[in-house]
Amino acid sequence: MSGFVPYGRQQIRAEDVEAVVRVLRSDFLTQGPVVPAFEAAIATHCSVAHAVAVNSATSALHIACLALGVGPGDRVWTSPITFVASANCALYCGATVDFVDVAPDTGNLCIEQLEQRLVQAQRGGQLPKVVIPVHLCGRSCDMKAIRALSQRFGFSVIEDASHAIGAHYDDQPVGSCRYSDVTVFSFHPVKIITTAEGGVAVTADPAIAERMARLRSHGITRDPALMTGEPDGPWYYQQIELGFNYRMTEMQAALGLSQMDRLETFIAARHRIARRYDELLAGLPLERPPSDASGSRSALHLYPIRLNPDLDRRRVFETLRSHQIGVNVHYIPVYLQPFYAKHGFRPGHCPSAEAYYLRIISLPMFPDLSDNDQTRVVDILKDAVT
Ligand SMILES: *Cc1c(COP(=O)(O)O)cnc(C)c1O
Repeated sequence: MSGFVPYGRQQIRAEDVEAVVRVLRSDFLTQGPVVPAFEAAIATHCSVAHAVAVNSATSALHIACLALGVGPGDRVWTSPITFVASANCALYCGATVDFVDVAPDTGNLCIEQLEQRLVQAQRGGQLPKVVIPVHLCGRSCDMKAIRALSQRFGFSVIEDASHAIGAHYDDQPVGSCRYSDVTVFSFHPVKIITTAEGGVAVTADPAIAERMARLRSHGITRDPALMTGEPDGPWYYQQIELGFNYRMTEMQAALGLSQMDRLETFIAARHRIARRYDELLAGLPLERPPSDASGSRSALHLYPIRLNPDLDRRRVFETLRSHQIGVNVHYIPVYLQPFYAKHGFRPGHCPSAEAYYLRIISLPMFPDLSDNDQTRVVDILKDAVT
């Protein structure tokens, strides 16, 4: 009854273990048939034509930026309330990054701020090449509005949906890419499904998919049509650009494929836990995550509460931690990292993001969280805030 309760945790069942062991005993540990099968399952789930599986969402963000032509001299914009990887991908490409402030309740990119900043940037001739909205906690950003701005101002859109496989927006699965060029998912163990490490980039555009698949594997092609000159022989491959080894292994894909069978179960369990938190936390001096907008369904990767501003967040956090509750804070505004301060960012750049950061605590949220543990989390929290 008093073990450590993390904020997020994978669910591994016998069928997951068997799927991985089957691959271990097969002919291919990498570059075999299971990665394409996993990609097909993701593409089918998302109702999108192409999926490129890689070794992390960080890698997926990198090759998505490159496939959209991001390079030195370009600008990429993202949200400050995210994991550092959403911003770092721009720097990998030699581009610069900037941050657009968030909505105070959801922590997602604020559409009004984005529009204002775009109007200013257009005047100064400094429009971004790519904008990366982040679906914080599994809740989709307002993608119709972002797509409208992308058409008006001429930028591409990568959805960082690391938190959001299984989410819906506009009655479509997140990943349909109806309102974006590429969508990226993460399969780190705290996320919705896991492959241990792993990620995928999905797109409706065959040329972008082909480019990402090539960048995942050294920039090498076996398609004679893409080569300079004739192939030396049937063994011939050609490196036509500088790529990486970002491949996913067959074991990882087998785990992911097995996990995809339970995606709906995972999302349903997260919604049940969120409803229970909503009931148990009613009346406390804090704000609960906003409920789903019409046509949308959050994947509920996280359940962040926002403490009333007069409460001491650090004391509440430390009380929970001292009782073995693995609460966390998602996220420190990226530009407040000392690394980004070196790139010229200063406190005050995104006031709503900084205000959001000061109040949030992510409570434990994962499919196997027991009612008993959840009740314990709430009891300790109640004591700490009242
Ligand atoms: C987890 C996460 C990433 C990075 O995912 P990895 O698969 O660990 O590389 C990127 N963006 C966001 C918002 C994340 O939460």
